[in-house]
Amino acid sequence: MKKILLVVCILSFAVGAQADFGRKFLKKDNVTAAQNAVKAATLSDEDMAKLSREAVASMDEQNPVVPDGDLLAKRFDDIVKGLESEDGLALNFKLYNVSDVNAFATPDGSIRVMAGLMIIMTDDEVRSVIGHEIGHVKLQHAKKQYQKAYSVAAGKDAAGANSGSAGKVLADSQLGAFLEDVMNAKFSRNDESASDEYGFNFMVKHGFDYHAMEGAFSKLAELSGESGKKSLKATHPGAAERARIAKERANAQDKKMKQARR
Ligand SMILES: [Zn+2]
Repeated sequence: MKKILLVVCILSFAVGAQADFGRKFLKKDNVTAAQNAVKAATLSDEDMAKLSREAVASMDEQNPVVPDGDLLAKRFDDIVKGLESEDGLALNFKLYNVSDVNAFATPDGSIRVMAGLMIIMTDDEVRSVIGHEIGHVKLQHAKKQYQKAYSVAAGKDAAGANSGSAGKVLADSQLGAFLEDVMNAKFSRNDESASDEYGFNFMVKHGFDYHAMEGAFSKLAELSGESGKKSLKATHPGAAERARIAKERANAQDKKMKQARR
C-alpha cells in the first residue's frame, strides 16, 4: 500500500527529489515492460472516463482520508470551496492522510492531495498545485499517460482490452498492473511546463495570490536540496527553475495589473 502511494506521487507533481525518492520503489521490469509495449490498444472516451474512475476508486480504497472535523480537513474544504468545476471539467477532491508532499489528478477530474503537502504549504500554494494538476487533465497529459499504461496492461494479457468483468474496463488483476505502469510514467518536461503555466493562469483567473506558485516550488526545491544553478542545467526543469519561472510570470502579471489600473 505504501509503495503504491509513494510511487504514484511521482507522476503527478514530479520534481527532482520526489522522483529520486520514489525511484527506489520502482521495479525495473515495469519500466522495461512499459517501454517495450508493442500492442497499442485504444481507449474510447467512455472507457477512458470509466478507467480513470476505476483507478481513482482503487487509490481511494488504498489510502486513508483525513477525517471530517480534523483541522486539516477543514482547511482543505476551504481551499477547494468553489472549485466544483473548472474550465468545463467537473472536479472532486480528497485529502489523503499520508505524509507525502504531493498531489495527483486523474483524467476524470479527481484531484487527490496528500496531507504532507498541506502541512508545508500555505493555502494559495496548495491552490497553485491544484491548478497545476488540473492543467495535466485539461491539457490531456493525464489522458495520454493513461492511454499508454492501458496499452501496456492490455498487452500483458492475451485477453487484452475490455477483459474486465462486471462492466469494468480492466479486470481487478489488470488494474494493479495498470496503476503500476501509470506510476512509473513521468510527464515530459514540456507537459510539466505547460501545466505550470496553466496553474499560474488558474491562480490569476480566480483572484488567488499568483505569487504563491513560486513559493510552492521553492519549498519543493528546498526539500530536494536543489541549488538553482544546478537545476538550470538539468534536462528536466527542477523545482528551483520552475520557481524562477513562476516568479517571472508573477512579476510580469504585477506589471500588467499596474498598467491596467492607470
Ligand atoms: Zn506535474
